Order: sequence, then C-alpha cells, then structure tokens
Amino acid sequence: MMLLLKKYNRAQSFFPLVLSCRNISRKKQVLLTDLVQKKPEDLRRHQIYDYFIVLDFEATCERSKLTYDQEIIEFPAFKVNSSTYQIEECFHSFVRPTIQPILSEFCMQLTGITQFQVDDKPTLKEVMQLFDIWMEKHVLSDNKNFIFCTSGDWDLMKMLPSECKMKNLTLPKYFYPYVNINKSYALTMGKWPRLGKGRLHAMLRLLDLEVFGELHQGTSDCENMIRIMEVLSKKGHIFKPTSTS
Ligand code: AMP
Ligand code: MG
Repeated sequence: MMLLLKKYNRAQSFFPLVLSCRNISRKKQVLLTDLVQKKPEDLRRHQIYDYFIVLDFEATCERSKLTYDQEIIEFPAFKVNSSTYQIEECFHSFVRPTIQPILSEFCMQLTGITQFQVDDKPTLKEVMQLFDIWMEKHVLSDNKNFIFCTSGDWDLMKMLPSECKMKNLTLPKYFYPYVNINKSYALTMGKWPRLGKGRLHAMLRLLDLEVFGELHQGTSDCENMIRIMEVLSKKGHIFKPTSTS
C-alpha cells in the first residue's frame, strides 16, 4: 500500500498498476483504485452531508456580565456546498431585542451592530418564521442531507434554546444534531485551538488563514468558519455531529 501511495505521488494516476496486482482481490483492487486515484484535495468530496448550514449568532451583551438574559440580534446562516465550499444561499436578518431593546455601548463596539440596525427589525419570533420559510425553500425541499455547523456550543446548545424557552418559542428540530467546528479542528489537528482572542481567531491563525472581515460580526464569522472547514476537509476531515441532541 505504501509503495502504491509513493508511486501515486510521482505519477498522477496509476489505475493500471493497481489492476496488475494479481494477488489483491477484485473488491480490494476497486477500493484501492478508488483511494489512490483521489488527490488530497478530492478528499473533501467524501463528506457525509451534501450541505453545511453555517450559522453564527450575535447577541446583546454587557462587559463582564455573565448572568445575563441575552437576546439574539444578528441571525446569519449560509448554505454551503460540501464539495466546493461555495455559498449557495444566504439567510441574514438583524433581530430586534424585546427584553432589553437598548444595546449597550460595549455590545455595539464588540459586534459593530448599531441601535439603528436593530430598531425596526423583526423580533426573534418573526425571524424564526422567516428562517423556517428559507429552510423549506432552500434546504428541506431538495432531498439532500445537511447539518448545521457553528464555532462552539454557545449558539445552538445555549443561546437559541434559552431564548426560545424564555419567549415560549418552538425550537425547530432541524438544528440538531449539529457540528461544533472547534471540535472538528481538535479531532483533525490533535489539539484544541488556544483561546486568546477566541477560538475562531486561534483556528485561523493556526491554519495560516487571514482573518476575513471583523471578528464578532455574524456574516464574517460564518465566512471565516467556512474557510476553516474547507482546510480541515482538505486535510481529510469528515464532518460528523458533535452534539448529543
Ligand atoms: P461571537 O460569535 O464570538 O462573535 O460571539 C457571540 C456573542 O457572544 C456576541 O454577540 C456577544 O453577545 C457574546 N460575546 C462574545 N465575546 C464576548 C466578550 N468578550 N464579552 C462579552 N460578550 C461576548
Ligand atoms: Mg459571531
């Protein structure tokens, strides 16, 4: 096998070589052929899911206030083709907070979201209805399989369930299970991305990727996640659910 792989590095295709190995069963020959004919970048075509729905919420916050009923203020989700890593569809809405309608200075600075951008926007209940329509049209109707992907467990394990509970909203089942790409990174690279400016920033730095846009802005966080996922995929990572529910 090692010999075959070495040969492959020199000559791009060696289908005839595999077929000439008479002592290898036909089934194994086919498997070997399949494996060795793929260039490393083709490994990303071996994903379980046809589409990744990459999502990153921004929410109300206060400096160093941990016990805080946060509300989602930005709701972006990108439908990403798992073979090409191209964004095929986007959903984006700012969300008007209703419990604490005035954004803190800290929150506006961190997320770049202004009071004006949320003031006349739909509430979470309305945005979730719009998102449901988007999901039906662009994801659920085309019989392809998909999984949501986030950086960390905060978005789908904590933020969305707690706000839905607080506002008595139904949490759609399609969000679960999901992929925490920080865990995908750890599985591929053998260690968790170090914190510092946050795991997303750490993963970009450790993978030699430039930061796209501004961190803590929902759409650029999604774009950065997609670029991280593409690199992990090229390294052979198969994205699988990391959440239990
Ligand atoms: P992120 O996806 O990392 O941009 O963070 C999502 C949300 O977590 C932000 O919109 C804030 O509500 C909160 N958050 C992130 N970083 C901080 C921080 N350093 N201090 C307080 N809240 C934060
Ligand atoms: Mg973010």
